[in-house]
Amino acid sequence: MENLKRFLSPKALLFSAFVFLASALVSAQTNDASGVSARARAIHDSAIVVDTHADTPQRFLDENFDIGSTDPKDNGHISLDKARAGNLGAEFFSIWVDPETNQGHFAKHTLDLIDSVYEQAAHHPDRMMMAFSVEDIDRAHKQKKLAALMGIEGGHSIENDIHLLRDYYRLGVRYMTLSWSNTNEWADSSGDIDDPKIQHHNGLTDFGKQVVLEMNRLGMMVDISHVADKTFWDTIAVTKAPVIASHSSARALTNAPRNMTDDMLRAVAKNGGVVDVNFYSSFVDEDYRKASEPIGKQAAEAVKAYLEKQRADGKAVTYIEVDRIEREWAAKIPRPPLKSLIDHIDHIAKVAGIDHVGLGSDFDGVAGATPAGIDSAADLPKITQALLDRGYSAGDIHKILGGNILRVFKEVERVSQQMQAQKLSSNP
Ligand SMILES: [Zn+2]
Repeated sequence: MENLKRFLSPKALLFSAFVFLASALVSAQTNDASGVSARARAIHDSAIVVDTHADTPQRFLDENFDIGSTDPKDNGHISLDKARAGNLGAEFFSIWVDPETNQGHFAKHTLDLIDSVYEQAAHHPDRMMMAFSVEDIDRAHKQKKLAALMGIEGGHSIENDIHLLRDYYRLGVRYMTLSWSNTNEWADSSGDIDDPKIQHHNGLTDFGKQVVLEMNRLGMMVDISHVADKTFWDTIAVTKAPVIASHSSARALTNAPRNMTDDMLRAVAKNGGVVDVNFYSSFVDEDYRKASEPIGKQAAEAVKAYLEKQRADGKAVTYIEVDRIEREWAAKIPRPPLKSLIDHIDHIAKVAGIDHVGLGSDFDGVAGATPAGIDSAADLPKITQALLDRGYSAGDIHKILGGNILRVFKEVERVSQQMQAQKLSSNP
């Protein structure tokens, strides 16, 4: 710009010098690579950051993916390096059994996925450890290791057998999502609630209510992400411990049936639970969701054609190939801004309260469809920066980053001990 100063008074010149100095100071505080200030970084790095949902186990099992990978071309969301860069302290790895491709052997595939998490921890004992309690997460944090926990995504994994549920607890599973996108024999899902071909139960069956109470007794967190609205309300009515939504966002902002209404958010607050915000672009940005509807249908068709072809050829179905097809379609829609994700955290903090919101990324489960700037766990500090920019205090940010889910987990452990003690004293 030529000759600008000619039009400025000396006073304005002084002011522009001040603005220049101030912005130089701000940029001196800013990490130019990611836009995270030293203050945000310090707040972020002093937290125990807990994410309640990542689908990486499918990569462990199907791709032989090594969490210690340093491959710069790897487009996955989670690796030990990425976790370290984003100060991720604990990850709940999702044990998700595709009900389509695993018919007749849900339990076997559940066990294979559980094994895959243990194997990763065994290969990297210096940087990662299995964790089964809040105490374990604290211990891992002190040892600067990633705490690996497990949550089963979809009640079909228990094959309608309460004994299997207990076995999964013994193997270390610390939450179960009552249903995935498929309605099972005891819990209705939001994923097929409008499908007349599916037999629904009007929420939870009596057995489903028993499952919830047995989870309470065991100390396994009850996860209401994915369930139909009526299943949610039945669960809230029957549970004796706080519930979690391991990866759900707010329906008032983005009208996906997978998201939670404001009434549900308030009910979780009353129950003492936590809603961990899903980062998936279709769940956090209404424009993206609308744009993705037709594209999602086409992607589903393409995946279906692939599955049918593999079956007809007698070949195995691989998650990598399904992911590749989905990514190709997802890449056709521009990514929403990070602001959309922060809006959801902010909305839930306002409606449910600051004690009832957390992070449930759905990393490695959304075909790369996350808001701009969030490419992996390494980008988590940007969320802290954005919350700081909106006026959140360090204490409140720590609650969101992990404090709230740790409080809920601890309370679930306490209720479990109490229920087990009561049962002992009533059965002399
Ligand atoms: Zn999910």
